[in-house]
Amino acid sequence: MMDYKQIFNAAPDVQASAPGRVNLLGEHTDYNDGFVLPTAIPQQTTVHIGYSPNDRHHFYSANLEEWVDVNPEETELKGFAKYVYGCIRVVETIGYSVPPVNIFVSSSVPIGSGLSSSAALEVATLRGLRSLLGLPFDDVKLAQLGQQAEIQYAGVSCGILDQMACSLADTEHMLFLDTRTLKRQILPFPTGAEIVVIDSGVARSLASSGYNQRRSECEAAAQQLGVRALRDVSDPQAVSQLPNLLRKRARHVITENNRVLQVLSGVSAEVFGQLMNASHASLRDDYEVSIPALDELVDIFQNMPDVFGARLTGAGFGGACVALVTAGKAKAVSKQVLTKYNQAGHKGHILVD
Ligand code: ADP
Ligand code: MG
Repeated sequence: MMDYKQIFNAAPDVQASAPGRVNLLGEHTDYNDGFVLPTAIPQQTTVHIGYSPNDRHHFYSANLEEWVDVNPEETELKGFAKYVYGCIRVVETIGYSVPPVNIFVSSSVPIGSGLSSSAALEVATLRGLRSLLGLPFDDVKLAQLGQQAEIQYAGVSCGILDQMACSLADTEHMLFLDTRTLKRQILPFPTGAEIVVIDSGVARSLASSGYNQRRSECEAAAQQLGVRALRDVSDPQAVSQLPNLLRKRARHVITENNRVLQVLSGVSAEVFGQLMNASHASLRDDYEVSIPALDELVDIFQNMPDVFGARLTGAGFGGACVALVTAGKAKAVSKQVLTKYNQAGHKGHILVD
């Protein structure tokens, strides 16, 4: 793989990294002002940054083997440059000037698999700019700037989950986050457990239309319940007066928020696993964002020894499943589950073990 020196013919001034993330519990709750529980994954994105020798920014991604030159006056960008340049622009928007820079990107985070390579790229880039230019913003502000870069420059209307996780989580802990107040708490991992993530091999093709539809259903349910967001309801019985479809959607969000809150009181790996299983059932039956392949993969996990629990993770309609397994067994379990799943005709692959 190429490095900064080979591409830019000079040594970089700073280096910064950020991990990808997986959400363990709290799915489809972030746009309802609710609670989420991500953890960082071992894979990271790294940027090397140095001053540009001319009046343009130069970006190179070793993963894409793609080189982009940017005139600092530019407004319309394509591909990965949108994320990197977006970070530079949001930093300028809050009042700091950024000189022309060279940025070299390399990453072991799977790209486009729901493990948040986009937020890892933003957080790594912002960390690099912060250290190059001595900028004073903290890790929460940094996450918010990354979110702004993704919304305004990459055109993805995302919540704050991904950037907060990539900025504040580590692989040894879970990050409890209240997405309304940004109040957060670092929690220890359930004792004696570790995670496995397997991609179902099914692309999230309907994800964006399904996602937008669920968002508006939740807004309608909140309105009919007379609350600002579904986060403001904690009693699942409160949904009984809603029409059938909205009742199911709201029930998922309310019970999912309650599952995340239950973890705050400290739970064993067994209980955590049961909460993951219940989350999957709720996403499948009430929220209807699972598909047969994800149900099959979760089912194989749940019937395997050394598995505490499993669920789809991310928006659904394809993508990946996360499981909590006995510490030290991640590699063995993931191999067995993948073999069984692919024997049934699928093209899954291991993302984290
Ligand atoms: P996810 O965040 O789930 O991996 P997204 O679609 O949100 O998927 O983000 C993927 C996009 O982020 C890529 O298409 C690319 O533009 C950008 N990206 C992420 N990592 C890299 C990288 N290492 N090099 C270049 N671009 C990257
Ligand atoms: Mg992303």
